[in-house]
Amino acid sequence: PYDVLVVGGGPAGASAAIYAARKGIRTGIVAERFGGQVMDTLGIENFVSIKKTEGPKLVASLEEHVKDYNIDVMNLQRASKLEKKDLVEIELENGAVLKSKSVILSTGARWRNVGVPGEAEFKNKGVAYCPHCDGPLFEGKRVAVIGGGNSGIEAAIDLAGIVEHVTVLEFLPELKADAVLQERLNTLPNVTVLKNVQTTEITGTDKVNGISYMDRDTEEVKHVELEGVFVQIGLVPNTEWLGDAIERSRFGEILVDKHGATNVPGVFAAGDCTDSAYKQIIISMGSGATAALGAFDYLIRN
Ligand code: FAD
Repeated sequence: PYDVLVVGGGPAGASAAIYAARKGIRTGIVAERFGGQVMDTLGIENFVSIKKTEGPKLVASLEEHVKDYNIDVMNLQRASKLEKKDLVEIELENGAVLKSKSVILSTGARWRNVGVPGEAEFKNKGVAYCPHCDGPLFEGKRVAVIGGGNSGIEAAIDLAGIVEHVTVLEFLPELKADAVLQERLNTLPNVTVLKNVQTTEITGTDKVNGISYMDRDTEEVKHVELEGVFVQIGLVPNTEWLGDAIERSRFGEILVDKHGATNVPGVFAAGDCTDSAYKQIIISMGSGATAALGAFDYLIRN
């Protein structure tokens, strides 16, 4: 068995694996896609000590750093079940079962769906989630951004530089994004902000041709013609596969203490899949280190 098995290969998992391996204990890392969300990120300017980098570039150096240690890397493998017996057992989708004395869950998060008619139908036919990835596809076109939080307003600012026009739809009466982002947004001539509106449908034929929304004050339904919709209403933790095995918040986030420990002895968690206050690369890496040290502490006491 492993001493530490890390499930998830984003910044949290990579950091946890390195910290564990540096203790000279048997370490494995199993990941559906090594690099995680960072693979979908273009510019990164807040990874302290590196002024500016790009997602795939950062992932390449993460991988290089992980490979510098004696870590079993099992990429393109999805965990489907966790069971605590004598050891912790992680079942993979391919049927294999990995056993470990301790486990660090770092399965990250993914974009939240808005759940209106047309969203699923027109995914990749005008409905997008990653402005950095898909923004350029809408060059010179009109798009909507659903969500007025930080990610929505960042997306709107980003897209405004590429597309002809951006309509932001916010459900609440006010935007929730940081003031500095809102100020920046307000300087842009090709952005319209609709507040207190509920998106009701993404319309189209073979691809998106518009969006319908209801003014929550007047209950009047309106329609805007456009070619793209970016859904930016937050992240969902990749924790469904855990079922009832591990205690989670009502948002599905794994509850951890300050050592990264979950409610199950020997099972730790780190990064965006936990109830951490903020979801950032540097924060995930920090919590990955914490979880690995927590797991090591557990191992020497048990
Ligand atoms: P993730 O990066 O989500 O990694 C999760 C890992 O778990 C992946 O390897 C995944 O394949 C794997 N996994 C999931 N489910 C399973 C399973 N069942 N079995 C096995 N493996 C599984 N942060 C910043 O600090 N600066 C930025 O500029 C920035 N820009 C961003 C831009 C975009 C477009 C996105 C999407 C995010 C951005 N973030 C940024 C946030 C940052 O990427 C995340 O906070 C960080 O990647 C979280 O790391 P993580 O390791 O917790 O999870």
